Amino acid sequence: MAHVPEEPKRYVCTNCQITHAGTPIHASASEHSFEPPESCGGCGESSFVALTDWVHHHD
Ligand SMILES: [Zn+2]
Repeated sequence: MAHVPEEPKRYVCTNCQITHAGTPIHASASEHSFEPPESCGGCGESSFVALTDWVHHHD
């Protein structure tokens, strides 16, 4: 089975709405997850919403 590169999870800053690529966290040898950056590179805030949740957040 071919290895499919995983798309990094993305997070949106709720303050300035810049999108950040998640930081990969290695949970095990074959698994990893992503977490939001510590702070926004644009405004310095640290509240992020996953891009997939942004649509609902924005509702
Ligand atoms: Zn920001």
